[in-house]
Amino acid sequence: MSPDVLVCGAGVGGLAAARALGGLGLDVLVVDKQPSVRPIAKGEVLQPGALRLLRSWGVEKRLDAQGAVRLGRLVVRDPRGTALMSLDYGQLPAPDQWLLAHDHTAILAALAGSLGPGVELRRGVRAEAPLRDDSGRITGLRLAEGGRVHEERAPLVVAADGISSRLRSWAGIEARRVDYPHRLVSFDIGDADAAARADDFSAYVTDRGLRLLYPLPGGWLRLYLQAGPDELRGVTARGGLADWAARALSQVPALEPLTAPLLAHLGTRQTLPVGRLLSPRLA
Ligand SMILES: Cc1cc2nc3c(=O)[nH]c(=O)nc-3n(C[C@H](O)[C@H](O)[C@H](O)COP(=O)(O)OP(=O)(O)OC[C@H]3O[C@@H](n4cnc5c(N)ncnc54)[C@H](O)[C@@H]3O)c2cc1C
Repeated sequence: MSPDVLVCGAGVGGLAAARALGGLGLDVLVVDKQPSVRPIAKGEVLQPGALRLLRSWGVEKRLDAQGAVRLGRLVVRDPRGTALMSLDYGQLPAPDQWLLAHDHTAILAALAGSLGPGVELRRGVRAEAPLRDDSGRITGLRLAEGGRVHEERAPLVVAADGISSRLRSWAGIEARRVDYPHRLVSFDIGDADAAARADDFSAYVTDRGLRLLYPLPGGWLRLYLQAGPDELRGVTARGGLADWAARALSQVPALEPLTAPLLAHLGTRQTLPVGRLLSPRLA
């Protein structure tokens, strides 16, 4: 039987849409081309507004049960660590008094675990093409799944297939990608003592860009280093990365104690492009 809603993409957007629509009593099918969730250094810090919704779905409780970290403040600091500006979440009315941090994969798993009986999630299923009615409206998708191709129709098709969404272009919604000139280089640093001391989200402002630091569950710290467009040319894990990372921290006296643990975790490096999408009109 056809579902009421077909959601393409099981990232936080698709899973949240599925949870909300399933909660209305609709039959929802969510498909994602990835056979399993891949760890990626993004989407780990949840703001109070999103948390309010996740709380009502039982997702916050699931994340708490897996050791989610609560952060009371978001602080912009100079390289010595002096606070230049601080967002103190403790000043907000309860229960919105913190940010919640967890790995992106744990957040996806907690959302997937909250979907309810009316929602089916199928991984390893790729949307290949839109199906349309006579008016051109998208009424389904051609799906490739385990070597076979089949058609799935639904009154509502939700495009939650990420920043490079093919569904968005199939639906004729224009969007222009604007890449920022810098990259973000992320590291996971296992230093339980330092993680226990870091109880806020800190953004260090330097003349070579931002350095972001916050704790994650299990005594880990997440460090993002902003890098200029050509700064990483020729820098590989085999050569240059250790020097580059140590140099980036040496310009931030407040972070220098993390140099040795960072050098011990160079293998966790991920380099992420940063950009935004601009649509010229509401669609
Ligand atoms: C470095 C970085 C840090 C960030 N930090 C934060 C943060 O701290 N807090 C926060 O709230 N946000 C943060 N964000 C933003 C947040 O991660 C994104 O907004 C969010 O992950 C987007 O979710 P999504 O579901 O829209 O897309 P995605 O997570 O990209 O999910 C799209 C899904 O669609 C699937 N898909 C794509 N094409 C197809 C297809 N043809 N068929 C089937 N499936 C398909 C993909 O496999 C994928 O699983 C960060 C982003 C970055 C890059």
